[in-house]
Amino acid sequence: MVSSFEDPSIQDIKLDLRKYPEIRKALKSKKPLVVNDALKDPLMKPVREKIKPLGIQSIAVIPIIHRDEVIGTLFLRTSKTGMSFTEREIKLCNAIANASSNALYNAYLFERLENEKTRLEKLAITDYLTGVYNIRYFYNRLDEEFSRAIRYEIPISCIMLDIDRFKRINDNYGHRAGDLVLRQFAQLIRRHTRKSDVFARYGGEEFIILLPQTGVDGARTEAERLQKYIREYSFKNIEEKITSSMGIACWPTHNIETSDDLITLADHALYRAKAMGRNRVVVSRRIRKQAPRK
Ligand code: GH3
Ligand code: MG
Ligand code: MG
Repeated sequence: MVSSFEDPSIQDIKLDLRKYPEIRKALKSKKPLVVNDALKDPLMKPVREKIKPLGIQSIAVIPIIHRDEVIGTLFLRTSKTGMSFTEREIKLCNAIANASSNALYNAYLFERLENEKTRLEKLAITDYLTGVYNIRYFYNRLDEEFSRAIRYEIPISCIMLDIDRFKRINDNYGHRAGDLVLRQFAQLIRRHTRKSDVFARYGGEEFIILLPQTGVDGARTEAERLQKYIREYSFKNIEEKITSSMGIACWPTHNIETSDDLITLADHALYRAKAMGRNRVVVSRRIRKQAPRK
């Protein structure tokens, strides 16, 4: 039921057609159907006990037909205290049903198109395996957020993270299990990042988080907090726990001019976290400008 006169706020209610023999019949015959006395009509026998307390006198079901197909029905009931439908009323309802068929069909098409558009838009920015944002979405947001940070001189940070020794998980449990761990990992981080942060899969078992309005201390705290969640989490398909390494870069603390610099420096810091023995957070150092070669 998409719309009801009794309560206009009621929308999208699923009717169990097994309880509505009159609607079933009208759908099948594609013809208007009138039940003058709901309690006496043999059609209503299977549901007689159920509708008794409702105090219904008569029922009219008018199919709404579009190109020979029933796309809905206009469903009317009168109460015991009222009267049954007159022929004139049924004619009027017929005219209404006919007139509404095009509009209804268009509305239905429009809704389907909108839903499909939303679905495709979401698909285009989602990483297939992990269900979190993909890198394409990340780069879009990065440009936006980085420009904003510079314009208003608000700090912005980036955390690059990589699962430690993930190859071993694949080697020990198989690629499929590795995939499932990756998905759980991504969902775990997603649950624990702020709504304003942008978390995406960078590729393989590397992920990236953009933290607008966050300076170096905030980013480090956030990274360490996430690391703790990861260390403690029991993944479904594997026996052992997982650790991760994270590299952080922040603007304007560091020598960063472009959004690319932010990513590159976070990546360098991650590399150092790996080199220093993994399972740790490293904040990017100021990069030294290389002296021009002679
Ligand atoms: P570390 O980062 O600590 O240096 O070691 P690692 O073993 O995690 O790193 P390395 O970069 O050598 O290997 C990453 C591995 O991640 C390689 C590949 O087997 C695995 N991997 C990358 N993407 C996927 C994926 O989508 N699914 C699965 N199952 N494994 C993946
Ligand atoms: Mg790794
Ligand atoms: Mg890696």
